[in-house]
Amino acid sequence: MDHTQDRALRHRAARVLPQGVYGHQSTALLPETYPQFFTRGEGAHIWDTDGHAYLDLMCAYGPNLLGYGDPRVNNAAIAQLQKGDTLTGPTPLMVELAELMVSMISHADWAIFCKNGTDATTMAKTVARAKTGRRIILVARGAYHGAAPWCTPAPAGILAEDRAHIHYYDYNDAESLSAAVAGAGDDLAGIFATPHKHDAFTDQALPDPDYARRARALCDQTGALLIVDDVRAGFRLTRDCSWELLGVRPDLSTWGKSFANGHPISALLGSETARDAAGSIYVTGSFWFSAMPMAAAIATLEILRDSSYLEQTIALGHRLREGLSKAAHAAGIGFRQTGPVQMPLFLFDDDPDFRRGFAWASDMLEQGIYIHPWHNMFLCAAMTDRDIDQVIEAAQTSFQAVSKRLDKIVPHPALSTLLAARSA
Ligand SMILES: *Cc1c(COP(=O)(O)O)cnc(C)c1O
Repeated sequence: MDHTQDRALRHRAARVLPQGVYGHQSTALLPETYPQFFTRGEGAHIWDTDGHAYLDLMCAYGPNLLGYGDPRVNNAAIAQLQKGDTLTGPTPLMVELAELMVSMISHADWAIFCKNGTDATTMAKTVARAKTGRRIILVARGAYHGAAPWCTPAPAGILAEDRAHIHYYDYNDAESLSAAVAGAGDDLAGIFATPHKHDAFTDQALPDPDYARRARALCDQTGALLIVDDVRAGFRLTRDCSWELLGVRPDLSTWGKSFANGHPISALLGSETARDAAGSIYVTGSFWFSAMPMAAAIATLEILRDSSYLEQTIALGHRLREGLSKAAHAAGIGFRQTGPVQMPLFLFDDDPDFRRGFAWASDMLEQGIYIHPWHNMFLCAAMTDRDIDQVIEAAQTSFQAVSKRLDKIVPHPALSTLLAARSA
């Protein structure tokens, strides 16, 4: 596979970006052959700078829910762009969007819109402290809530003081959560939980209802706020806050990634109990009132409410899981698929440094399938049965390639460094 253009861009990037592309798409974190730059996306596919098309199972790490460039969403966005986007104040779309979200999300009575998931989670933390006048925030060990100093997974530049009042518990472990609450004494402000355990590098786990109910009960007993971080799983599991599936309602929920189908907007939603506290904090941003992403969000949410996108992606997910499971079994390979079928994560048995995962992913890429060796993936509503079958067919040959490639493909040492930092 020719990567000439991508190599040239990497070379230029290395001079003007500190280590080239940063964050989740840093070269160190993915197989060497993975392209770093893309020129185009349409439906379920992305194109790299050398003209290769890939069926994209990353969906932009979540934002692509209906398909890249969905015309229903983009036409609404373009029409608004032509009228006005970033103005001195918001357009009426802000009220309309808040009304729509509040009508869809059972626990929510109000919304604050922002740009990134990190804005929303950081604001949730501040609201919990403003509401309670207390300091301690509980977070599940290894859970991702964004890239601000209080939650970013890598340690460089972060002070112990940045996390002085962040305490940790084990996800899905009601006893661990209770112990952390007891340890916080009368200083507990809030408890964060992701809808299910979707940490990188490790098997996903669905939420244990006892743990979720315990989190609610502990917040009720202590007056702390329960925060469900739905930035990644929101609208992928249900058309409501994900913990509605368990009958557990948070006080705050955080949203981002998918609800404008890739346009830049995120949100903090809250119930009546947190309204005054949310109104008391000072939060804003130069682009937080921008109208184009709000128009995109309204168009997206109406489609989510009125279409069968969810049932479709779940059906595609089952097809994929069954097909891959058969293929792995036929190849005699220990291969684990975890989490909700529409948000799958794939890991190999006996693969502590992800060598097998990298070998498999590299071979899949050569066959035009973009997967991830250690992060959960996403299915989108633009995928078809035929696309899923293509993944399964590619996997049948790629599983054979894993053992052959093992010596050639070695993950970058930076990956182990990140891994060590996370488990510390
Ligand atoms: C991605 C993510 C965030 C951060 O969102 P950004 O838009 O990247 O700032 C927060 N929480 C969860 C669960 C996420 O997956």
